[in-house]
Amino acid sequence: MLNRILTEADCAQCRLCCSFFESEIWEMPTIDEDFTELYKDYNFGEICFDENGLYRCPALGEAGCKLGSNRPFDCKLWPFRAMKLGEFTVVTVSPLCKKVSEKPLAELSQFVNFELADKIKARVLKYPAQIKDYIKDYPILKVL
Ligand code: SF4
Repeated sequence: MLNRILTEADCAQCRLCCSFFESEIWEMPTIDEDFTELYKDYNFGEICFDENGLYRCPALGEAGCKLGSNRPFDCKLWPFRAMKLGEFTVVTVSPLCKKVSEKPLAELSQFVNFELADKIKARVLKYPAQIKDYIKDYPILKVL
């Protein structure tokens, strides 16, 4: 979904978005109810931190995400996020993704407008309760 601005090779080298410190647990992907059967072999509900205070997503393997193209929508979309800001749903970008953060916000806004906005809107309509709350310092790229 993001191939034009973030390649699979970029992600394979990094994997930052698949491990979480306690303060980042809200970033864990939301598991769509329609797909619980698909994800039943991975215990997404049990969160255990290692000795470094890090929780690795149970679907993260040595070669990257074991779910491949079946990974949750949140993961396909990251570092972009649909977030609730008051009565609005906004599309933001996480400042944690170094590769995407190198790009100008104008370019990212254009990418969201042309490639992501419709897909995000469809998801927001289907799973409105799953949209995460807005986090300060996340640049807003679009109001849906
Ligand atoms: S489901 Fe896959 S892409 Fe998503 S956080 Fe887990 S390992 Fe990473």
